[in-house]
Order: sequence, then structure tokens, then C-alpha cells
Amino acid sequence: MNMYTKLGLFIGGKWIYEAEKGENVLNPADESILGWLPHATKGNLNDALKSSEIGFDEWKNTNPNKRSRIILKAADILSERISAISKVMTLEQGKPLAESVGEINQSIAILKFNGTNAKLIKDELVADRDNGLKTLIQPHPLGICLCLTAWNFPIALVVRKIAPALAAGCSVIIKPSEETPGTAIEVVKIFQEAGLPKDVINLVFGVPHEISDYLLSRDEVKKLSFTGSVPVGKLLAKKSAETLKRCTLELGGHSPAIIAEDADIEKTLDVLTGFKFRNAGQVCIAPSRFYVHEKIYDKVRDGFLSRLKNILLGNGMSEGITMGPLANFRRIEAMQDFVDDAVKNGSNIIHGGNRHKNIGYFWEPTIIENINEGSKIMNQEIFGPILPLFKFDDYDDVIDKANSLNYGLASYVYTTSETLQKKMAKEIIAGGVSINTATPLHPDIPYGGIKESGIGYEGGMDAIYSFIHKKNINII
Ligand code: NAD
Repeated sequence: MNMYTKLGLFIGGKWIYEAEKGENVLNPADESILGWLPHATKGNLNDALKSSEIGFDEWKNTNPNKRSRIILKAADILSERISAISKVMTLEQGKPLAESVGEINQSIAILKFNGTNAKLIKDELVADRDNGLKTLIQPHPLGICLCLTAWNFPIALVVRKIAPALAAGCSVIIKPSEETPGTAIEVVKIFQEAGLPKDVINLVFGVPHEISDYLLSRDEVKKLSFTGSVPVGKLLAKKSAETLKRCTLELGGHSPAIIAEDADIEKTLDVLTGFKFRNAGQVCIAPSRFYVHEKIYDKVRDGFLSRLKNILLGNGMSEGITMGPLANFRRIEAMQDFVDDAVKNGSNIIHGGNRHKNIGYFWEPTIIENINEGSKIMNQEIFGPILPLFKFDDYDDVIDKANSLNYGLASYVYTTSETLQKKMAKEIIAGGVSINTATPLHPDIPYGGIKESGIGYEGGMDAIYSFIHKKNINII
């Protein structure tokens, strides 16, 4: 039985399965071909734009209660398909099935939050001026939104954009990653079954820069929402500036994890090992620079070593596997480069450090110590299963180190001292500071990066309002 999705584009309410150009989608666990993905032509992109204009006209005039019902219905249908879609996701992305199931559950919660709140977007009236002036603040959906998502969370990233855009009343052209198209296709199918008018979502794939260059140059597109790397985010922001499109950018990070001398070590190690190696480290908010107080360094290192021995690396479709392959060969090359560079700079690999097997994109869970602060691993986003351990002895100094990069996404602090908790929460410059825990991305909480980690927020009402213009109507 074929568990994988038939791959296609969805334009103007029709599925397109054939094209002159396209690409194979590979299973990262064994490099087998899962399917062939057609690429959109310029003609297809124009059709998607025309369809999105029709879709916007219809959707913005749809009663918010109806919008709400459709989004909530999509959540219900997705709940019935967890088993099938989790397999599609693991086949194309590699993460263990249990993680795919978790990601789908998270996406259901996102749909529910946005569905529920779609009907709560209201006009506000300010009417307390002496001269009798009343100002009505009317929320208006921005228009056609271009959503571009990466491959590390094939459903959550898609839903985190589509759901608030639809709640706000926008139409969407989405280009998910060409490396994980099947999951996104299943989401679009679900929205059609839930009763979404056929022109409200258009789904395209192709050569990423050709699609973004073309669509971002068009006036009809009013907003860009992108999740991916910092360099691509900057490129897209520049392109968007030509027509002054609004941008939400959810970019990379290099998140410090600071373990103080008074931390609850066993609990800290459990939390950090789970969060570091989830999705084989390919998570924008993954802890990735580990600063350990010198007084507990040996204990922490040994604790990580023993926990890494329990990670079961293998095909995510198999029972009991706790870490799958990396999503593509580029990540293998990147891990090799990080390790080579660290060794050249005097570091020791104390666990892993190699590609595992020659078929499939597996990389061993790796720990590196004696890190030179100038090495690539301390300065570039790792996005993989490598854990660099760094010793520190002064809290002000370690905060400076935490703040030393241009990234500002997540950060992690482990300490039982309330004074230190408050100090770190205040002084670390990041999208968030998680204390004695991981970073839970709940659907009702806005999350966003600062510095070069991004612009704007996803999650919460902020995400819905990022697709809305507040128009003032002044009446006397
Ligand atoms: P990449 O930057 O080339 O691609 C990231 C995503 O952006 C891909 O899905 C791709 O389709 C899309 N993309 C790339 N160029 C584009 C363009 N010109 N127009 C439109 N879309 C474009 O890198 P990669 O090799 O796929 O991933 C490696 C790096 O990406 C990692 O080191 C990590 O920094 C980053 N990344 C971040 C996230 C995140 O959640 N913030 C997710 C995935 C990847």
C-alpha cells in the first residue's frame, strides 16, 4: 500500500499533477524516491494570483462565524487523519513517527485557537472626545498573503501561517518546502473538505527563488510570511521592500543554554537532551550553545554522555526509534563542516561526530568540548544533532557570551536561584527566556525573534492581527 501522497499543485481550485519541470522527493531515511513534484510555471503563478484575488473577495466578505466554523472543521478532519498524515510526514522529513504525531496534535491546537478567535475580531469604538468625534477602528484583512515555509516542521509551519491568515480574512498563496510537500498537500485537501471556498488557498511549488522573485514583485501580494534561514529572510525582506509589503519573518537562532552551579542537574539534563535532539536538532529554537558552570561541568558532561547512549538512531517509521535522519544531504555536509572546523580549532569529539551508515542522511548524536569561541559551531546556526559544551565561571561574562551573536530567538537558563533567574530573564536579549524548562510554543502565545532572528510574531492574537490593517473611520 502506498502511504505517500500524490504530489501536485493546487491552483484555482484544481489539482495539477503534470508539468514540464519538477523534482523527485526523497525519503531521507533511505534516499528512495517517494514521488515526483511538479513545478509551477509563470502561467501557473499568474493563475494562482488571479484565483487568490477571487478568493480574497469572497473570503473577506464571508461572515466570521462561517470562517470560524470552516477552520474548526479543518481541525476536526485533521484529528481523524493523524495516523495517515504522520506517516507521510515521517517518510518525507525523517522525524520519528511519535514526533510527527506530536506535531500534528500541535497543529490541531493551532487550528482550534485560530478558528475560535476568527469570530472574535471586532470593531472598536473610541468615542470620548469633547467635540463628539467618534473613531471606529475597523479590522480589514490585508489581502493576498504569500506564505513560504521550511522543511523542519512540515505541518506546524504551514498551519501557523494559514490558520491566522484565514482567521483574519486573507487569501493565501503558500509555497511549502519542496522537500516536504506531501504533508502540506494533505492540509490543503483537508481545508477543501472543510468547505473552504476553492480560491482562498493556492498551493505552489517550484524553484524557491523564482517563485518568490516573481510573486514578491507583484502589487497584488500584500504580505509575506516566511520561516527559514536568516540569509534567505534578508533576501526576501529586500525584495518585499520594493513594493513595501508587510513581512513576518521567523528566522534562525543559536540559542544559549546556561546551566548554573545550583541547577537541578538530573532534571536539566533530561529537559535539554530531549529538546536538543528533537527532530535531530533541526529546530529553530533548539538549545545549541551549552554553557556549564565549571563546578558542575564534569557531572553535566557525564550526564549528557550517558543519556546520548540511549538515543536510538534509525528510520523514523520503525518502532522505538528516538532520532531519525537529517532532512537532506545539505545538513550532513553542514555537520561534517562543523566537526572538521571544531577539530581544527582544538576541540575534542567526546561522542559521535560521524555520519552513520552511507545510505540515508543519518548523523550520530554528537558532543564536542574544549570549544574555541571563534569556531563555526559557536557562531553559525547548527541545525543538527551536535551539542557543544562550554565551561564558564562568571555569570555576567556568560550573559555577555549569550548575547554576543546577531541571533536573538530562544534562550535557556537552569538555576534554582530566584535572583539569578530574574537577572537572566532581564539581561538576556532574546525572543524568550525559558527557565528550568524547554520552550513550549502554545498556540495562544505570541513568539518572535529579535535582532536577526526575525520580525513580528507567530502565535496568539498577534499572529491574526499581523494579517490585518486597522482602518480608522472618523465620524462627528
Ligand atoms: P535555505 O535557507 O536555502 O532554505 C530554507 C527554506 O527557505 C527552504 O524551505 C526553501 O524552500 C526556502 N527558500 C530558500 N530560498 C528561497 C527563496 N529565494 N525564496 C523563497 N523561499 C526560499 O536553507 P536549507 O539548506 O534548506 O536549510 C539550512 C538552514 O536553514 C539552517 O541552517 C537553518 O538556519 C535554516 N532553517 C531555519 C528554519 C527555521 O525554522 N527558522 C527552518 C529550516 C531551515
